[in-house]
Amino acid sequence: MKIYADNAATTKISRTAVEAMLPYIEEFYGNPSSLYSFGQKAKEALETARASIAECIGAQPREIIFTSGGSEADNQAILSAAAIGKKSGKMHIISDQIEHHAVLHTLKKLEKEGFSVTYLPVGTDGIVKVEDLRAAIHEDTCLVTVMYANNEIGTIQPINEIGKICREKKIIFHTDAVQAVGHIPVNVVDESIDMLSASAHKFHGPKGVGFLYARKGIRLTNLIEGGAQERGRRAGTENVPGIVAMAAAFVESVGHIEENAKRAAALRDRLIAGLSEIPHSALNGDAVKRLPSNVNFCFEGIEGESLLLLLDDKGICASSGSACTSGSLDPSHVLLAIGRVHDVAHGSLRLTLGDDATEEEVDYIIRSVKEVVEYLRGFSPVWRDLCAGKGNFIL
Ligand SMILES: *Cc1c(COP(=O)(O)O)cnc(C)c1O
Repeated sequence: MKIYADNAATTKISRTAVEAMLPYIEEFYGNPSSLYSFGQKAKEALETARASIAECIGAQPREIIFTSGGSEADNQAILSAAAIGKKSGKMHIISDQIEHHAVLHTLKKLEKEGFSVTYLPVGTDGIVKVEDLRAAIHEDTCLVTVMYANNEIGTIQPINEIGKICREKKIIFHTDAVQAVGHIPVNVVDESIDMLSASAHKFHGPKGVGFLYARKGIRLTNLIEGGAQERGRRAGTENVPGIVAMAAAFVESVGHIEENAKRAAALRDRLIAGLSEIPHSALNGDAVKRLPSNVNFCFEGIEGESLLLLLDDKGICASSGSACTSGSLDPSHVLLAIGRVHDVAHGSLRLTLGDDATEEEVDYIIRSVKEVVEYLRGFSPVWRDLCAGKGNFIL
C-alpha cells in the first residue's frame, strides 16, 4: 500500500487545476503586460482568477496580490505593516510562539531593525489566549500577526475574536492562513482580517504560487522591484498558468469545503482513537479546535526520524515536526511551546490526510504505527530503563 499522509507539507495538484493551466502553457502564452489581444487574453485570465480568489474569501479583487507562495506573502504582509507602523513611530508587534518560520524569521529581522516583538505563549492545547493578546497591546503596537491554523499540530486560533480586538484598537491584523484556506471556511470581512497569506500547493494547486490579501487602504511595501505588475506592488511577469490553476483549485476546494471537512474529520478522529491505544502516547494540540485532516502524536521513547523511515518502508509518507525543520536536530518549536519536553518532542509524528483518504487506509496506518512503535521501543535503552522502573514516564 502507498499512502500519502503529508498533506500539510504539500498536496497533490488536482486534475481541474492541471486542466485549467494547460491552455496558458501551450496556447495563450502571451505576456499579460502586452497590448495586443494575444497578451490581453492572459491578462483577462489573471483578472478572472483574481476575482474568483477574492470571492472565495469575501474580499474585493483589488485586494488580492499574487505572490510566489505563502512565505513571500507572509514576508510582504509583515514588512508592509512594519513600514506603516514605523512612519508613525509605532514599533511594537504581537505574534505567537507557534508561527511558521516565514513569519518568525521575518519578525527576527525586524527585531534587529529596532522593532520589539511580543511572542504570545499558547496553552497545552496549542491555542493563543485572547486575554494574553489584550494584555500585550500597547499604544505603539502596529501589527498583530497570528496564524489561522498551525501547520504542525493543526490547531485553529480564535481568529474572529482577535480580529475584533484589533479592529477596535485600530491595529493591523495579519493571519497566515496557508493551512486554513480551502480546508475550513474563511471570510476576511466577517473575521475582521486586514491581511491574509495563502499558498496554492496547500489546497491542490501548483507549487510556487500564492496570494496576499491586503484590505483596501493598506499600503504595501514591495519586496521585488522592477515592472509595474500587480499595480506596482510586486514586479515580475506574472505566473499566469500557476495563477489560473491556483484559482481553479481554490474554487474547487471551497465548493466542497463542508463535505470534505466533515469526511476528513471523521477519518481524523478514527485515526486519533486508534493511535491513542498506544501506551505512553499523547495527541498534540486540541482535539476539537483543529484542522479536519491533522493528526499529531508524541510517542515516548521513540525517535521521530526512525519512525518515519520505518513507516516509509510500509508505504506511508508522514512527517515529524515541520518539513522545514527536518534535517535539524532541534525539536519542533511548536511542540516545545505546548509544553512537550525535548525527549518527548523528538518522538512526534504528523499525519495529514488527503481528501481521498479511506477508512482502510486509516486502519492500515494505525496498524503500522502500532507495530513500528513497539518495534522501536524494543531497541531503546531509555525505554527499557523506564519499563524497569528507572525514571518516570512522562506520557
Ligand atoms: C507551507 C506554509 C507556508 C509556506 O508556504 P510556501 O508556499 O511553501 O512558501 C507558510 N505558512 C504555513 C502555515 C505553511 O503551512
